[in-house]
Amino acid sequence: MTTRSLSVTARVPAKINLDLAVGPVGPDGYHPVATVFHALGLYDDLTVTPTDDGSFELLVEGEHVEGVPTDDTNLALRAARLVATRGEVEQGAVLELRKGIPVAGGMAGGSADAAAALVACDLAWRTGMSRAELHEMAGELGSDVAFALVGGTAIGQGRGEQISPALARGQYHWVLALSATGLSTAAVYAEHDRLATGHQLAEPRVADAVMQALRTGDAVALGRSLRNDLQRAAVSLRPELGDLVELGQEYGALGGVVSGSGPTVAFLVRDHEHALDLSVALTASGACEQVRRAHGPVHGVRTGDLPRIP
Ligand code: ATP
Repeated sequence: MTTRSLSVTARVPAKINLDLAVGPVGPDGYHPVATVFHALGLYDDLTVTPTDDGSFELLVEGEHVEGVPTDDTNLALRAARLVATRGEVEQGAVLELRKGIPVAGGMAGGSADAAAALVACDLAWRTGMSRAELHEMAGELGSDVAFALVGGTAIGQGRGEQISPALARGQYHWVLALSATGLSTAAVYAEHDRLATGHQLAEPRVADAVMQALRTGDAVALGRSLRNDLQRAAVSLRPELGDLVELGQEYGALGGVVSGSGPTVAFLVRDHEHALDLSVALTASGACEQVRRAHGPVHGVRTGDLPRIP
């Protein structure tokens, strides 16, 4: 009897950071962070089809995929190869990636794809990895990969890869203002370090105000307490981002914050109607390249019966 190789599709969400505290750079050159991740309903889909000759191939499609590498530097391919090595798999895989998460936008699209590849390859090759093994590989691949596996709203510590659950209530509506060109995470951290020269940075801690707002499901309080220590650096490199955050608030957002290392700005709004109003206003202002609406929190990587994304 021959076993047929089946394709597996994994769907993975984008993230924003409701709170991002950045500590003093350590001897290893990394910044410790304390962050509240929040998974949003903007997705990448990754389909993995095993190959018998051990070859790997990556195909990328989507609206704005310039800048997505198709060579071995792509995080999805790196994740697939890591599963193959750890699981002593002799097969290879064709990876078909459909991107809906903005590229280089501070929404961890590359990390999300790595998480999708871990899960989809494990299933497609039937390696039978445990959750703990998948999480360990996620931590090796990048600081945001572990969160993409679990999704929801969660606290990240260390480099962001140490995930613990956050007590969070409610569904939140977001308007995302996208920029035409991305920002490099490394450049934003370098600017953050430059701005912090001569200042003593505290060990990073998640703000009580954010946790309290989440515990009670209070969108108004959450909007007021959104915080990102990298925002100053992102605005220093792109001053128009500061104007954009202010504009969204003038237009009635409950709060606005640069997501991760930017340049995407996430605005919290009351409900679906409010999201439509703010989207129209921001689009008409010309202050950003594109606007998306999304709700959160949503699940991390999912496989199985996936409805079509419009
Ligand atoms: P970070 O996770 O570093 O904050 P980001 O969320 O701002 O990044 P990504 O969409 O992950 O943005 O892209 C950052 C860079 O990662 C891209 O410019 C690209 O060179 C590289 N990259 C590697 N793999 C991928 C992938 N699967 N999808 C998108 N970009 C990828």
